Amino acid sequence: MVGKRSLSAISLILLAGMAGAGGIEKPSPGVWPDKVYRWHYNPQNHPPWLPEERVRAWVMEAAEQWEDCGVRMEYLGDTQSRPGAIDGQNVVGWSYAVPPKIRAATVGQAKSGRLIERDIAFRPDRAEFKRFPRLLRKVIAHEFGHALGLTHSPDCDDVMTLAADCPPVHPSLLPIKPTPDDLVRCRALYHFVP
Ligand SMILES: [Zn+2]
Repeated sequence: MVGKRSLSAISLILLAGMAGAGGIEKPSPGVWPDKVYRWHYNPQNHPPWLPEERVRAWVMEAAEQWEDCGVRMEYLGDTQSRPGAIDGQNVVGWSYAVPPKIRAATVGQAKSGRLIERDIAFRPDRAEFKRFPRLLRKVIAHEFGHALGLTHSPDCDDVMTLAADCPPVHPSLLPIKPTPDDLVRCRALYHFVP
């Protein structure tokens, strides 16, 4: 049951992504009202060519870097819950439910501009990640941006850019943390400073 729901959630995001590729970006689903993204990590199915500790460090680092936006990224420990399962828990991890042609998907639920759940699922067996680990690091940073409610950036240099809309860039030149422009966009989303 949960598996079915999570798959359809991922499909919905894919449709949104395809719309983005055509130049139509859906509006942000919302923000975390208390400016805190509380997340768990599920190391299961991580890419076999990457030591578990290394990829974990990349995930932790990518999350922390978004704190420059003025939000808190609170890691709550590991979980065995699957990323993509709509279960009220924010889970970041690896999933073969992400279609093979897709690098990663951020899925969840939101209501009236408030995020309720954001799971991030990375496809573990993308050959390009093995060839260019920096690309994986960019994708990790990018998906945490979506988990905060960010949409794609029109600026091709940004972490939040939609690669399909941009000229190809050698992976060694990709940003692996939010750029100043990403942070401006993020702060604009979270402008309601208490
Ligand atoms: Zn994206």
